[in-house]
Amino acid sequence: MDRYGAERVLNVVAPVSDSDALEVDRLLEEKLGRLSLTAWQPRNMAWHASQIVKQVDPGAETAAARMAHEGRKVTLDHGVYAQSRISADLPSDVASAAFARVDAMARKLRLGDSSRNLDQLRADVFADLLLGNDPGVTVPQSAAMVYLHMPIDTALSMSETGASIDGIGPIPATYAREIMTNPKSIWRKVLCDPATGNPVDLGRSSYRPTSTIRTLVEVRDRMCVVPWCRRPARHCDFDHQQQWTKDHGSTAVDNAGPRCRKHHRLKNAPGWINHYDPAHGTSSVTTPLGVTYTDKRETVLEPRPPEPDNEPYWVQFRCSEAGSSSRWCS
Ligand SMILES: [Zn+2]
Repeated sequence: MDRYGAERVLNVVAPVSDSDALEVDRLLEEKLGRLSLTAWQPRNMAWHASQIVKQVDPGAETAAARMAHEGRKVTLDHGVYAQSRISADLPSDVASAAFARVDAMARKLRLGDSSRNLDQLRADVFADLLLGNDPGVTVPQSAAMVYLHMPIDTALSMSETGASIDGIGPIPATYAREIMTNPKSIWRKVLCDPATGNPVDLGRSSYRPTSTIRTLVEVRDRMCVVPWCRRPARHCDFDHQQQWTKDHGSTAVDNAGPRCRKHHRLKNAPGWINHYDPAHGTSSVTTPLGVTYTDKRETVLEPRPPEPDNEPYWVQFRCSEAGSSSRWCS
């Protein structure tokens, strides 16, 4: 293993404890021994290491992603010959979308400008956009799109595996669901052959995930989560149990419940203690007088044992920062 490869693996293993890191090291060595030589390439090795980290410590990757997200920044380094470098540490999907937008504008400009190469055009467009100058070109419709893939059970928080972004690789499921619920994101169903895992058909419809998740929560819970309240879910507020930025929650079915306006306001009122577990449907409210009321929602269908041969549907998301998603809405 060369130094660069070792550094990439170390970055992947950094969030886990020392004892888990030893276990990852042992499993990685075992796995690389079974695979072809291309598995030893730094990028592939880092990918295999990240799969093993997920298996050894499922929460580590999400914790590391949150820490990395908190470290986002813009830096400026002055170089020689009157040149400087400005760079930004951003979430991968945001950086990819931003670069794709600059790249698409530069490529469009190049059609009528042979005096500047593509690198120079991208640098000029980048500076114009940041400085609020007119770059002399509009953004092409298909620019700034990133492709996120994940199995439907991961989209619905029933699993934590399988999410990846084209050109970037695997990303934590909680972060993938956060991207998915961006109001500009569009999702599309891709039916895969259970035997091969390859796509065999595309769903005809596309959906906006935010409204789909809201509808799923309404269908699942059917009424306000406060035990004695029967207010229909469709007339309730969509309440995040935990906020992504403040409490590390995410916009997902396992972090939401309907709460009528009155009980939404009561949630944080002095003396009231509210608890709702969206995954299991248990709810409790303790009043200022110390009386606790509890409830458990009924499932929509009688649960059945899972059938091991059933491959879940996969969904593909096309996330757009440039408003180009309309072509998927028809
Ligand atoms: Zn209520």
